[in-house]
Amino acid sequence: MADASTPTEENPLAEGLERLPVHPTILMIFGGTGDLAQRKLLPAIYNLAHEGALPERFHLIGNARGELSDDDYREIARESIEAHSRRRPDPQVLETLLEGMRFVSGSFDDPAVYERLGDVANELDEAAGITFNRVYYLSTAPSFFAVIVGRLGEHGLDSHDDAEVRVVIEKPIGTNLVEAKQLNSAVLDVLDEAQVFRIDHYLGKETVQNVLAFRFANGLFEPIWNRNYVDSVQITAAEDIGIGSRAGYYDSSGALRDLVQNHMLQLLCLLCMEPPVNFSADEVRDEKVKVLHAIEPPTTGTVPQMAVRAQYARGVAGGEDAGGYLEEDDVPEHSTTETYAALRLEVDNWRWAGVPIYLRTGKRLTRKVTEIAITLKPVPHLAFAQDGAVGVQPNQIVLTVQPNEGASISLGAKIPGTRMRIRPVNMEFLYGTAFMSQSPEAYERLIMDAMRGEATLFTRDDEVEAQWRIVDPILEAWADDDGEVAQYESGSNGPEAADALLYAGHRWRAI
Ligand code: NAP
Repeated sequence: MADASTPTEENPLAEGLERLPVHPTILMIFGGTGDLAQRKLLPAIYNLAHEGALPERFHLIGNARGELSDDDYREIARESIEAHSRRRPDPQVLETLLEGMRFVSGSFDDPAVYERLGDVANELDEAAGITFNRVYYLSTAPSFFAVIVGRLGEHGLDSHDDAEVRVVIEKPIGTNLVEAKQLNSAVLDVLDEAQVFRIDHYLGKETVQNVLAFRFANGLFEPIWNRNYVDSVQITAAEDIGIGSRAGYYDSSGALRDLVQNHMLQLLCLLCMEPPVNFSADEVRDEKVKVLHAIEPPTTGTVPQMAVRAQYARGVAGGEDAGGYLEEDDVPEHSTTETYAALRLEVDNWRWAGVPIYLRTGKRLTRKVTEIAITLKPVPHLAFAQDGAVGVQPNQIVLTVQPNEGASISLGAKIPGTRMRIRPVNMEFLYGTAFMSQSPEAYERLIMDAMRGEATLFTRDDEVEAQWRIVDPILEAWADDDGEVAQYESGSNGPEAADALLYAGHRWRAI
C-alpha cells in the first residue's frame, strides 16, 4: 500500500524505521463510530496503511447501533480520516483501505451481533483462502468491556484454532481498585492475559518510550540514577485548557483518576524501574510492577500530608478571561471534583529510598507541558570565590514528553569575562530536529503492537491493580473530606497549597 510518499523517500533520516511483518488481520472496532474511533483510531489506521505498515491483507469491521451499510461506514471513515489524519490522505491508499471495511450493526449485548461478526470474519477468511488473526478493539464506554468480552466467549469468538485472537481494552480499567479487580477477573474468565491489551496511550508516545532509551542506551545516566545522586524528581502533566464540553465525563473522574492513576504512575515506573533483562513484555512489566509495590499507599489519615487537590477558578487563559470550573456548563454547583492534583510519593527501595517524587497535573494551567525533571544533589564543595558560586545550581535533567519533545541537561558554565562567575546553561536535544520526522501518533504504535501481539506498551492486570492501590486511599480521603476545595487562578502555575508538599529547599518548577 506504500506509495511514492512513504517516509523513507520523504526523509532519509527516517530510514531504518521498522516495517515489521504482521500476520493478516481483521480489526473489529466496537464503538466504531464513536469519538475515539473517528478522531484517533481510523486516522491511525490510515497512517499505518500510508506507511505500508499494515499487514498486506487487512480488514476492518466497525460496530455500533446505527443502521449503516458498509458504504455508509466507509463514508464515515473517509470523513474522519480526511479530518483528523496527521498527513493528507493519498487517494489510492485511502480507497484500498476503505474497500476492506465492513460494518455490523447492533447493540453490544445482542447475540446476533456476535453471530454476524463471526460470519463476516469467516467469509473474509474464505474469500482470501487464509485465516486472519482477529483483534477486537473495545472503543466503548467502560461499562461494556465485560459485557462484550463475555459475549465473545459465549459465541466462541475468544479463540480460534488457526489464528491469534486479541482484545484491546480502552481506559479506564475501573474507577477504583475493587472495580478494576472485578473487570480484570471478568475479562480473564474468558481470555488469557496474553490476549489482553489494556491501552494507556501515553505509553505509545515516542518520547515516553525514549525515557527507556535514554536510561538504558547510555552509560552516562545509569551510574547517577539513584538516591546517592538524585535529590528529587518532579513529574508534571499540565494542560492549558479547561474541561471544555466534557463535564459529564470529567466531573465523575477528576484529575487523579484521569491522569495520575494511569499515565503519571506509568511515567514514574519507567523512570524508576530497574533495567529489565530484555525488553520482552513480561520482563518490562515485572520491573514496573516492582516499582509500584515499592510505593507504600497512604492511609486516609496521611493523605493530607502527601496529596493536594484544587479546582481552577476564574482567571485569564490564552489571553482571554476564563470562568472557573464551577461555572462550566453541566458541572454541579457544589462539585468537589479536582481539576488539579499534586502528590509526593516515595519509591521505598534500595535505589530510591528518601528521594521525593513529586507529581502534579492540572487543567487551565499557564502552559501545556508534560515533563519529568530530575534534580541532582549539589556538588559537595564549591572552590570558587564567593561571587563565582552564586549562580551554581544543581544539575537538572529534563525529559519533555510534550510539546517540544526532547531532553535537556542544565550545566553550570562560566560567564565570559575576567572573573570566574557561573550560571546554568542548557544542553538540549529536540526530537523533531534530531530525526527530522514527525513522531507517529501513539495510537499508530499501539494498534500495530496489538496486531503483532507485542504487549510491552500495554498494562498488565497486576500493574493496573497496583496503580489503584496507591490512588484509592487518596480518593477515599477526598470523598470523605467535606472542607473547601482549594482554588487556583486559571492560567496560573497551580494552587499555593501544593507548596506544602515540598520538602525544605525544593520548589515547583515554573510551568
Ligand atoms: P463515544 O463517542 O460515546 O462512542 C461510543 C461508541 O459506541 C459509538 O460508536 C456508539 O454508537 C457506540 N455504542 C454506544 N452504545 C452502544 C451499544 N449499546 N451497542 C453498540 N454500540 C454502542 O465514546 P468515545 O469517546 O469514543 O470513547 C470510547 C472509549 O474510549 C471509552 O472507554 C473512553 O473512556 C475511551 N477514551 C476516549 C477518548 C476520547 O478522546 N474520546 C480518549 C481516551 C480514551 P451508537 O450510539 O450509534 O451505537
